[in-house]
Amino acid sequence: MATIKCTECDNKISDSVKFCPHCGAPNSQDEEHEEHEGRTVGFLLGSGILFLPLIFSWFTLRKGYSAKARFMSFAWIYVTLMITIIPITNKSPTSQAQKIESRKQKENEENLKRTAANLINAYGYSCDFVDHVTPFALSEGFNVFCENSRYHYEIENKGGNWIVRVK
Ligand SMILES: [Zn+2]
Repeated sequence: MATIKCTECDNKISDSVKFCPHCGAPNSQDEEHEEHEGRTVGFLLGSGILFLPLIFSWFTLRKGYSAKARFMSFAWIYVTLMITIIPITNKSPTSQAQKIESRKQKENEENLKRTAANLINAYGYSCDFVDHVTPFALSEGFNVFCENSRYHYEIENKGGNWIVRVK
């Protein structure tokens, strides 16, 4: 049992008494102790935890808050983190659409390559495989590069007929 000074009359009192035996003032240390014990999450802290749990939930770790309050606020951090993370990790509809679009583009490109190779072969030119096809900027036609750029052809639409030229 330790002795402390009464905050009102400065007399020495036991720290275990509730009131100063000299002046009747409440034992400030005891009061503080009591206050810490049953600390409840007030409105401000509650709102803080609700909206910014990453910042405010830590306050419940201060002396006096119940295990339940701590558990609730940290569970809330977890929930809000999950809510924030799930849309990021989940494939959003737009990225899904982009994927389909790029796959379509690839398919189109493959079709174009096959068609170009067939056309070139039909003209009696050599093109075992097409490296890449680039469309003409101004007219309807394509530059076609075959077999690791060994052959370069131009395919152009001339009045409805596709003409193959060797470059
Ligand atoms: Zn006193």
